[in-house]
Amino acid sequence: MTKTGLVWFRNDLRIHDQISLVKAAKENSFVIAVYCFDPRQFEKDRFGFTKTGKYRAQFLIETVQDLQQQLNELNIPLFVHVDVPEKIIPEYVKIHKVTSVYLQNEWTSEEREVVNNVQKEITSNVDWIEAYDQFLFHPEDIPMTIDKIPQVFTIFRKKCEKYASVRQLETISKMPEKNRVPQQTRVPTLQELGHTDFDTDSRTAFPFKGGEKTGLQRLHDYTWNTKKLSYYKNTRNGLVGTDYSSKFSTWLGNGSLSPRMIYHEVKKYESEIVKNQSSYWMIFELIWRDFFKYISLKHGNDIFKLEGILHTPYEWNTDKQLIQQWIDGETAEPFVNANMLELKHTGWMSNRGRQNVASYFAKTQKLDWRIGAAYFESLLIDYDVHSNYGNWLYVSGVGNDPRDRTFNVKLQAARYDGNNKFQNLWLQTSLF
Ligand SMILES: Cc1cc2nc3c(=O)[nH]c(=O)nc-3n(C[C@H](O)[C@H](O)[C@H](O)COP(=O)(O)OP(=O)(O)OC[C@H]3O[C@@H](n4cnc5c(N)ncnc54)[C@H](O)[C@@H]3O)c2cc1C
Repeated sequence: MTKTGLVWFRNDLRIHDQISLVKAAKENSFVIAVYCFDPRQFEKDRFGFTKTGKYRAQFLIETVQDLQQQLNELNIPLFVHVDVPEKIIPEYVKIHKVTSVYLQNEWTSEEREVVNNVQKEITSNVDWIEAYDQFLFHPEDIPMTIDKIPQVFTIFRKKCEKYASVRQLETISKMPEKNRVPQQTRVPTLQELGHTDFDTDSRTAFPFKGGEKTGLQRLHDYTWNTKKLSYYKNTRNGLVGTDYSSKFSTWLGNGSLSPRMIYHEVKKYESEIVKNQSSYWMIFELIWRDFFKYISLKHGNDIFKLEGILHTPYEWNTDKQLIQQWIDGETAEPFVNANMLELKHTGWMSNRGRQNVASYFAKTQKLDWRIGAAYFESLLIDYDVHSNYGNWLYVSGVGNDPRDRTFNVKLQAARYDGNNKFQNLWLQTSLF
């Protein structure tokens, strides 16, 4: 019997180290791929923010265009639609007599619901193959069960560093050209997703385009070309420019870069260039990323609840004016304002900035942290459900911070922006 595999792409938009793709190519004579720009992801959320704002939408478009080209070279067509997967995936299964569907395993409730609905619409008998492909440490390789994931990051990190190892990279082989299925779909424009075109702000710290190719180029530049990795630990709290941190999060967010790829590249760098605190710190940060994914696996929908995973009842307010001032960079704190303007004009904010504006929002102003998180979700190019909600919970005192700190924004500004370079960049130019 001829076997046809369908790879349903979602947040795993790459061809390197892509488990679903590798399996599909190994197990089938024909492979097709599908990506849906789900219109629900471009609607307004319950707080009135567009779920996927223009910056991430543009990055996603570029990513899917790149993926379509890369897959084409492997003789795998990527069919792209602006429609719900519940309609599109079953249609392809039927038309192409698909025998197996491959996809990344996602566990957050919205994604699960879509998967369940798709499965209900498929009437034929198909093998359904989901794989965890977003982690550094695969869930089968960590030395604890999900219900025993520690609340404290350091405990998690030390156990993983001691007992778990990162898997080797998976490599896809090209499908035979004669088995190539033609495809005529195209990637939508920004307008077709409900946004208007925009020019990139010349001040942006993230001037990069989306796609696996640019992600791999960035990895190469940050390591081998510029050797910035050797200084990462000293620069990572920076605020201005492209190189104070890796910017990998954007590509990691939609899966156009594999965390294992970064890990193995860092290891190679350590053996060929230098192994120091900075090279280690890159891996340390990638473990933070994993940690928030595991926290979300363990706590499910609690990560979206006001009382968080600690179930702590605090008084929160939803003062519309205070929220708008924060969004528009018009609070009493110039450092908060500069960061919020950066986000508004570019879809990017540094980690230092994010910590400060989130702490100001949730701790100082005591505003409902979920509104801040939803605004980030809308604006950030690198939005990732686990990292965003995990960090917001953490900063808001309802997550994993054992110290439950409030940032002193003025001290932070003096420490990290002593010469006002960052604040001048965003506050002075907005006067023109
Ligand atoms: C309130 C708040 C919201 C956030 N929302 C997101 C989000 O939606 N998506 C996202 O990817 N990150 C988020 N972060 C984490 C962090 O700010 C970004 O990952 C980081 O700034 C991205 O820049 P970079 O890739 O240059 O990071 P680097 O400093 O170069 O770090 C390398 C990688 O390590 C990981 N990493 C670093 N810091 C963290 C962290 N605190 N938590 C989880 N992973 C981390 C990222 O994958 C990052 O790409 C948030 C942090 C805060 C405080």
